[in-house]
Amino acid sequence: MAKTGNIPVTLIDKSAHAETAFDSLGFGDAFSDHMLLCDWADGEWKSPRIVPREPLKVDPAALGLHYGQSVFEGLKAYRGTADNRIRLFRPDRNAQRLAASCNRLCIPAPGPDQLIDWISSLVAVEAKWIPEKFGEALYIRPMIFATEGHLAVRPANQYTLVIVAAPVGQYFAQYGRPLRVKAEDRYTRAASGGTGAAKTAGNYGATLKPMFEAASLGFDQLLWLDGDEHAFAEEAGQMNIFFRIGNEVITPELSGTILPGVTRDSVLSLLKQWGIKATARRISMAELRKEAESENLLEIFGAGTAAVVVPVDSIQYQDFDIRARPPSANSISQRLFQSLLAIQHGQVDDTNNWIQFVDTE
Ligand SMILES: *Cc1c(COP(=O)(O)O)cnc(C)c1O
Repeated sequence: MAKTGNIPVTLIDKSAHAETAFDSLGFGDAFSDHMLLCDWADGEWKSPRIVPREPLKVDPAALGLHYGQSVFEGLKAYRGTADNRIRLFRPDRNAQRLAASCNRLCIPAPGPDQLIDWISSLVAVEAKWIPEKFGEALYIRPMIFATEGHLAVRPANQYTLVIVAAPVGQYFAQYGRPLRVKAEDRYTRAASGGTGAAKTAGNYGATLKPMFEAASLGFDQLLWLDGDEHAFAEEAGQMNIFFRIGNEVITPELSGTILPGVTRDSVLSLLKQWGIKATARRISMAELRKEAESENLLEIFGAGTAAVVVPVDSIQYQDFDIRARPPSANSISQRLFQSLLAIQHGQVDDTNNWIQFVDTE
């Protein structure tokens, strides 16, 4: 048995690396060889271990499966273009957000430093799984769910944390073409007082039907609106949404129904550093329609770890189309996309201290 730090590692007998199609990576089709497991019992997170990736044994009455007491995170490890060193992008933010999600779901959170240590250990073991191409990465998915078998609706006494990793390429299959989005004016993703700000399983299960319906009408993605009136923009699927009106960039403020994206926060920081006015505030579909009609709505884009930054062509809301201008070489979304990836791949100085290195000995 090998060790990384003080975590025991059981290595797989036969790696799947050679059979993995690294030249045509999608998102989530392939997984790396190992996973990290850790259990919570008797009031503490115990015995973190890295083992070959395999099905988990779960009690059929596990509270996490029945009642959705389950949270997750998503972040990426990148290869440095010039130095080949492994870089995690703002893992402290993901660790803090996981703790906040745990808090909302009554799950005991691992300490942020502890979690980053576990992530780093797994990434070090899976180093050969990190693709090298610009824009490709090893996606890391920590997840915690209640494993105690019980029927009462109450917080569980036992949990499992699992971290899996997946080499990923571009998120959207139709990359290179701006997205066609439908504003969802009937279904609701998150209501005020609900769990919209937490990365918890139930938020996603509830979006499948509306997403499927929109996809069958030819849309790439949904724009979620506020739950009260379905009149204000909130999020684009699993991305935060941004609108460039004239020379100002606007994103919905974190009202409690919006997931506080790490990419969103990074975009706001970069825009401020570039001297571009960036505002977080409520923005209505009526205002967007008016700005589009007077040709002031220059850009619409989504931002999230999986897709980084993606331009949106248009949003259909009820019976009108809110259209951005066609993307151009000097679009802000393109500059953000390139800049974020340049930081993530170590091509420019990390002046914001966003990178944490993972060193393999
Ligand atoms: C994860 C997620 C985001 C994006 O967050 P990042 O930290 O930037 O990846 C946005 N919205 C929803 C609903 C999400 O689940």
